Amino acid sequence: MKLQHRKDKKKVLKITSLGGVGNVTKNLFVYEYGNDIIVVDCGIGFPSGEMPGVDIIIPDVHYLLEREEKIRGFIITHGHEDHFGALPYVLPQFKRNIPVFATELVSGFISVKLQSFGQEKTYLKIVDPDKGPFRLGVFNITPFRVNHSVPDSVGYIIKTPQGTIVHVSDFKFDWTPVSDKPFEVARLTKNISGGVRVLLSDCLGSLVEGYTRTEKDIEKIFDSLLDSALGQVFVTTISSNISRMQQAINASVRHNRKVALLGYSVNKNVRVAEKLGYLKIPRGTLIKPEKAASYPSHAVTYIIAGSYGQKSSALFRLASGKHRFAKLKQGATVIFSADPSPPGVKDDVDVVVGKLTELGADVHHYEIQENLHISGHGVQGDLMMLVSIVEPLYVVPIGGAPSMMRGYKKLVKKCGVASKNVLELKEGQTINISESGVFLGKVVKTYDVLVDGLGVGVVGSIILRDRRTLAQSGLLLVVIPLDKSTKEIRGEIQVISKGFVFEKAAQDILDEVKKITYKVVGTSIKNKKVDNIKSCLKKELRRFLFREIEKRPIILPIIVRV
Ligand SMILES: [Zn+2]
Repeated sequence: MKLQHRKDKKKVLKITSLGGVGNVTKNLFVYEYGNDIIVVDCGIGFPSGEMPGVDIIIPDVHYLLEREEKIRGFIITHGHEDHFGALPYVLPQFKRNIPVFATELVSGFISVKLQSFGQEKTYLKIVDPDKGPFRLGVFNITPFRVNHSVPDSVGYIIKTPQGTIVHVSDFKFDWTPVSDKPFEVARLTKNISGGVRVLLSDCLGSLVEGYTRTEKDIEKIFDSLLDSALGQVFVTTISSNISRMQQAINASVRHNRKVALLGYSVNKNVRVAEKLGYLKIPRGTLIKPEKAASYPSHAVTYIIAGSYGQKSSALFRLASGKHRFAKLKQGATVIFSADPSPPGVKDDVDVVVGKLTELGADVHHYEIQENLHISGHGVQGDLMMLVSIVEPLYVVPIGGAPSMMRGYKKLVKKCGVASKNVLELKEGQTINISESGVFLGKVVKTYDVLVDGLGVGVVGSIILRDRRTLAQSGLLLVVIPLDKSTKEIRGEIQVISKGFVFEKAAQDILDEVKKITYKVVGTSIKNKKVDNIKSCLKKELRRFLFREIEKRPIILPIIVRV
């Protein structure tokens, strides 16, 4: 027994980041010791402008698929898509049902999500900090409450044969939270009395001075905006921000306004949160969106999805005058109360703000009123407070861009953590924790798995390159009608330009394209291979178009058999 124990001690604890470092989203961390693996978070990422047509990015989990028999469970920190949203894509890749552990509200969000994918049999286990630790393989896991922009968020104390690890993804300290309990400092300190070897901590706010304000401050702002609002009021926030919605509802009740919910995600999340007691709505306050129009404008607040300006959202439809139930009237007040700067979002928000303003709304957004949003992330003061409480030997900044990881490194030096003990990870990189120390290990090669309307992983780099070319240089279609039996050109060749020259203005170019096509294809292709003709035609046309107008559109010859 003793020998076995000593042997166990010799094993290395590996923590591998398959996502969630170097960028803010797609969080997934693998803890591996001997025959046991647990996975912390399983989130989606958001595409950059360089990836046209891609809806979301999911983590590459081939590392986990190769070790499926070791996986004891996924444990989720909180109810944001970039921490749990990849579950419906990742779980079906395994041969067996792997349990998912999450707090009550987060489990509610996950189960709504999985149901929308038709996956109802998932093995969801509720995590309750009041019930103490639970064990998965060699790992002893104690959840503790933290504050964030979605209630019921937790950090995890993970006891392993190689010491205690504390994993705190997105967090802040809030002593007067709205729908939540304050950060459980006592529970955390009580469970780390033996010392902490490694702290993995959110680092997103490391470049911002001060402390993050309490969520409660928002309600006063809503009150003052509602004081001066004479017509309709629309409040938009992230649909998981239950505390923000609670405050919009409280202020509306005080101003004798009914509340209507617009948007699928807002409706779903409000229903889950209200059922579980995280959202308190006085009876008679909620009205159906289709009934809202029958109330006077000054008697209704709409909570509406689409704070990131998403084109499929209720807010975008409202701004385009195309919402089924709500029509924006002159003098309406629109309040954006959401994080103003997730990557790649600002341009979309600006478009919606512009449309709403043109429709006659008084739009309050981050550029004119900074206090409309309070971040769910701690800034320098909060981050230093966590390090001072945990007193780790090593720290690993997570959930932030490289500049924020570097900012974090400088920051924690002030708390006595030497720079060499701050490990800046790359995606796929492993930290090896053994008796001899804590070291950066090898990097597991990962690829972005892109999801678009067509499915998972089908968007390869060639398709992406084509889409970029399409967006920048357009498309030239050459339709060649060919007689089925004689294999001769029958009828006229059609040249169609999409997005690279304006057809009417460049008729001579298109005529020349036609001439070249006749020349290359000849009157008959009887003895030639179709593929050869196509590639030869593409080459000729490419050369011609670049010489004449310096453009490189995608050229698509299509042979139609008539
Ligand atoms: Zn979050």
